[in-house]
Amino acid sequence: MKDSNFLKENNGRVFWHPMTSPEDSIKNPPKIITASNGVRISDIDGHEVVDAVGGLWNVNLGYSCAPVKDAIAAQLERLPYYSTFRGSSNDAAIELAFELGEFFAPDGVTRAFFTSGGSDSVETALRLARQYHKLRGDSGRVKFLSLKKGYHGTHFGGASVNGNANFRTAYEPLMPGCHHIPAPYTYRNPFNESDPEKLAHLCVAALEDEIAFQGAGTIAAMIMEPILGAGGVIPPHKSFAPMVADVCKRNGILLITDEVITAYGRTGAWSGARLWGIKPDMMCTAKAITNGYFPFGALMIGEQMQEVFENNPAAKIGHGYTYSGHPVGAAAALACLAETKRLNVVDNAAARGDQLYQGCLALQEKYDIIGDVRGGHGLMTAIEMVSDRATKAPIDAASAMKVQEVAYQSGAMVRVSGPNLILSPPLVLTEADATAILDALDAGFAAL
Ligand code: PLP
Repeated sequence: MKDSNFLKENNGRVFWHPMTSPEDSIKNPPKIITASNGVRISDIDGHEVVDAVGGLWNVNLGYSCAPVKDAIAAQLERLPYYSTFRGSSNDAAIELAFELGEFFAPDGVTRAFFTSGGSDSVETALRLARQYHKLRGDSGRVKFLSLKKGYHGTHFGGASVNGNANFRTAYEPLMPGCHHIPAPYTYRNPFNESDPEKLAHLCVAALEDEIAFQGAGTIAAMIMEPILGAGGVIPPHKSFAPMVADVCKRNGILLITDEVITAYGRTGAWSGARLWGIKPDMMCTAKAITNGYFPFGALMIGEQMQEVFENNPAAKIGHGYTYSGHPVGAAAALACLAETKRLNVVDNAAARGDQLYQGCLALQEKYDIIGDVRGGHGLMTAIEMVSDRATKAPIDAASAMKVQEVAYQSGAMVRVSGPNLILSPPLVLTEADATAILDALDAGFAAL
């Protein structure tokens, strides 16, 4: 490793970081993380904290997961790469497809198409949705529906269904034919409705209205996160996803659950689809599939699409990535899935998630700056900060950064996204780790 002066000088200078401006990276250099242990990370100055971000919602099993590291090392030694394009395959990818099919069988999605990450999984889903309708002779179905505040990665298709202007405006024009429905976000919504169940009905009515306006026969698919993640952890009322699934079914619209965050236990259920009791036509996964140790993703595909693609000689999938089914990623994912099941991380995600959520609600009693606390489903929690509780005016960026910095100095890495502090720690968090996160947040809010 180069010395710390070299790294600090070049961090913002030659390295354009995602989701920030190069100018900001120079003025406010991003923290340089150089080591890890369990659920803790250490920076270049030797400061150690609990990682309440969990890498980026992906290091579900923590940083010291030996079975995944060993599987990567062994696969690198035996077969570091082989393509899965037409005419070739590799054993790790075949085994993983089988295991994922078993794991997601209760969700009705039992075929796997492998990708290099979440944005790829979304792109694959959107493309296969159009192809599915074309194969059935219903080629007018080309449009997509999604939720405002939803996040679906940064490829052009994913960005087009994204529901947040921050990821869209600079790159427009995006894909035509993508239409956005109000999110079931009780704290702020166009209906001024704070009751989650009533809001769920209003959002579904808006969905039906949009379908009627566009014409059901023009719409290929609806994509949504079971719990909106990057948009600020927005869990809908339990009636919402089943109603959306029903509307999609009645209108011949495929339902894609984007579970890049919610699959593999984060919500306290094995998938977001299972949490809400729905069966999607496709499910996008990535992130925790390899515990974040290798870039990898899997799009899982349901029976309705299997029937059309698997019984049609013309159904050539003209889509794929050099790294689709990468054997090292597949080996990592196999080990990760085995460890995820062995540790039964869903139960701990639910218990520790409840502790964090209740702890954040207690902080809300103490600090006026906390406008809203969202969570209650596993280890996905957000604190929305405001400068005025009565008007709900969002907090200014400098104050949000200050809370984050003091929390960091006090023992926890938390993520700021707009007015939200987002908590998505590893699912192997202990009670003491969760308490450490809450204490650090307390110190952060007290500093304002
Ligand atoms: N979809 C969702 C729901 C996500 O949260 C993300 C990333 O945070 C993506 C897609 C994009 O995944 P990636 O960053 O791996 O491309």
